[in-house]
Amino acid sequence: MKIKCPFCESEKTHLYLKLKDYFLTQEDFQIQECENCNLLFTMPRPDSSEIGKYYKSDDYLSHNEHKKGLVPWLYNRVKRVNIRNKYKMACKGLTNPKLLDFGCGIGDFLHYAKRKGCDITGCDLSEDARSLASEKLGKTIVSPEEIFALPDSTFDIITMWHVLEHVPDLKYHAQQLHRLLKPGGRLVVAVPNFHSFDAHFYKDHWAAYDVPRHLYHFHKESLQNVFDGKFSLETIYPLVWDSLYISMESEKYSGNNNSFIQGIIIGKKSNLLALKSKEYSSLVYVFRKI
Ligand SMILES: [Zn+2]
Repeated sequence: MKIKCPFCESEKTHLYLKLKDYFLTQEDFQIQECENCNLLFTMPRPDSSEIGKYYKSDDYLSHNEHKKGLVPWLYNRVKRVNIRNKYKMACKGLTNPKLLDFGCGIGDFLHYAKRKGCDITGCDLSEDARSLASEKLGKTIVSPEEIFALPDSTFDIITMWHVLEHVPDLKYHAQQLHRLLKPGGRLVVAVPNFHSFDAHFYKDHWAAYDVPRHLYHFHKESLQNVFDGKFSLETIYPLVWDSLYISMESEKYSGNNNSFIQGIIIGKKSNLLALKSKEYSSLVYVFRKI
């Protein structure tokens, strides 16, 4: 049976990788590559009635927020530094912007953005995340449907921190994000990069494939292709801490008992090689609405 690319609908697709949901269910999945638009996509794709079971883990929502031990402690320290860096990349040159964090999770980025004077709005698909974030921010976090009902030109900036890879309909989202931004508005998209050294090193055990929660997998060209014609690319930043965390998780999935040290070694190596190649484990793309 021919498999169609869910983005460009080309039938010129082939198997790229066989892998498992190492994070939760251990079920088998495949990643297919589209020869037309170069996008990688997960197969089979759970539909909206099934997808919930793949997110049923406390770890997925709060990512160690209240756990004790060295790794959660380090994770939370790094998270704070990371949020500061993300804010600098995203909001550089903007004063008190009207900001939407699309897929805001438990609201950590919004919390910081609010302190910095942004007029914040957040949305998330997960009801649990919405209620945690609403409590944290003292502001109601809404569903994506409610965001899509807002008028044109509502926001100065929209951020998506590791969200686009979870989104089923890329075309619809690109069109809606474009509509919701003011003329010249800014779109900031962070996604894992499967052209990084850590992705090549861990292959099917690379934690940032994260199937079937990640429906798409991007490199620079295929990510830009999604927004082509609607946005112009201003700059690309690296998220240098992601390679360490992803490498540690990948080591765990590979069955390594010493995942912490080995993860740091491979993550550091990935960042060092990326100084020249620019293929960091995760990249932040800053676009401007055309
Ligand atoms: Zn395609």
